[in-house]
Amino acid sequence: MKPKIKSLIAAAVIIGMVSCETKTKEAKTPETINLDDFTSMQMKDVEQVAPLDIDLEAAVQRLSKGITYKTISNQDRNDFDPKAFDGYHEFLLKAYPNVHKTLKREIVGDPRPYTLLYTWEGKDPSLDPALFYAHQDVVPVPDDTKDRWKVDPFAGTVKDGYIWGRGVLDDKGQLQGMLEAVEKRIQEGWQPARTIYFLFGQDEEVGGPEGAEQVAKVFKERGITKFAYVADESYMLVPGIFPGIPGNTALIGIAQKGYLSLELSIEGQGGHSSEPPVQSIIGILSEAIVKLENAQFPYRIDPAIRAQYRYLGPEMDKEKQPMFAAVAFGKDGEMTDLEKQFIEEMAKSPFTQASIRTSIATTMFNAGVKDNVLPNSASAVVNFRNMAGDNIESIIEHVKKAINDDRISIKDISASINASSMTDPYGDAYKMTEKTIRQTWGNDLIVAPVYVSGGSDGKWFMTSDFDAPVYGFRAIQVENMEETKGFHGINERILVDEHGKTIGFFYQLFENLDQL
Ligand SMILES: [Zn+2]
Repeated sequence: MKPKIKSLIAAAVIIGMVSCETKTKEAKTPETINLDDFTSMQMKDVEQVAPLDIDLEAAVQRLSKGITYKTISNQDRNDFDPKAFDGYHEFLLKAYPNVHKTLKREIVGDPRPYTLLYTWEGKDPSLDPALFYAHQDVVPVPDDTKDRWKVDPFAGTVKDGYIWGRGVLDDKGQLQGMLEAVEKRIQEGWQPARTIYFLFGQDEEVGGPEGAEQVAKVFKERGITKFAYVADESYMLVPGIFPGIPGNTALIGIAQKGYLSLELSIEGQGGHSSEPPVQSIIGILSEAIVKLENAQFPYRIDPAIRAQYRYLGPEMDKEKQPMFAAVAFGKDGEMTDLEKQFIEEMAKSPFTQASIRTSIATTMFNAGVKDNVLPNSASAVVNFRNMAGDNIESIIEHVKKAINDDRISIKDISASINASSMTDPYGDAYKMTEKTIRQTWGNDLIVAPVYVSGGSDGKWFMTSDFDAPVYGFRAIQVENMEETKGFHGINERILVDEHGKTIGFFYQLFENLDQL
């Protein structure tokens, strides 16, 4: 993927993109890019496979039943229902008998063991294994949204051509889709060439410290650190999911931002509000938050963003292609005028600016109990999604420097993790993923790698401890962006027929993995 470099300036002038402003000192000249190299990366003419011959109605019933187990991850970790997880495990045992006869099942997790780790022994032990990830837990349904659901979110309703309920998109549809595909393969007497692990986490929605992080440790203890392929969850197929591309698009996650929540706190003297100090601890803490929000992290272009635009750029507005080419072919540590222009555009919206810098979000603020009592303490929580280059230590340093106030203490209260490394967006494993998507959904869609601002449990395998190409993809088509609102929202639902596609996708992926 080495671009031939010619005259970017010429290309830009031809298209009329660059204003004739005087070059600043840091602007790099002459920078050259030939737009002839900025061609479509889309795989052509992949043969679509016939829909899988399965009893879809029975599979749908099993998914519907799976939804009824309230495997909820609440923010308050004491609010946890072990019976829901035990019940779900019992149900899976019965629903997928061949899986449980053939695969080894282990229950992992610390301190609460509710994560499922299955091993499907491959025929050739010399091959590196693969890992398929999904999670059992779901986000809660807040009380104030319940009356906006058209069905009971935990009833597993099937109606109007949809399967409804909390977790059907995220992530039980994917989890049970994998098990359906394994069940079918075993029924057909098929065995994978390489060993395949299935890891079904218990607490992805709260960062995965009890589940996936512990399984990652188990793999390390067993000396299993090299994987040929890791399938993680990420975006679903949706028309218009990427701004600037109206058509159907499948995005494959190749890198994730990190995660860190810091609690800022201050102790006060308390006392009666009739004799207050000049500055309250609420005032002091508020000032610290304002100082921090005024000290934003610098904008940068991550290598995963470059790969994303190498794929998506040629499919977008012709006029903007010099800019996207400059991003795709740009070099870290250098910044061309067109890359600066890209950053300016991205910085305009909160959605896109999050992908070009470590974000700062003040999410909680607590102080005071009564109108005439001075609070004894005040605290706030700030959530950071860090880019590669800003690690946990350097972020804490940044916060200390920005606040510059010894009265405030800073504590890491999260399952914090640094940003992931990038998975190869050009190699065989990526191509196999794209091919499987096209075999399942056809060629009338754009497929591209993407930088993920949020995070999933795949991050526990995207560290330097593992040699694991993690690809994030949610094997389900939804009709439009409106339908994506069910994800962590209200009226979460999937099309019945699409559950068949999910199963077909994994069924095909198992086979394609043999050739990797
Ligand atoms: Zn999820």
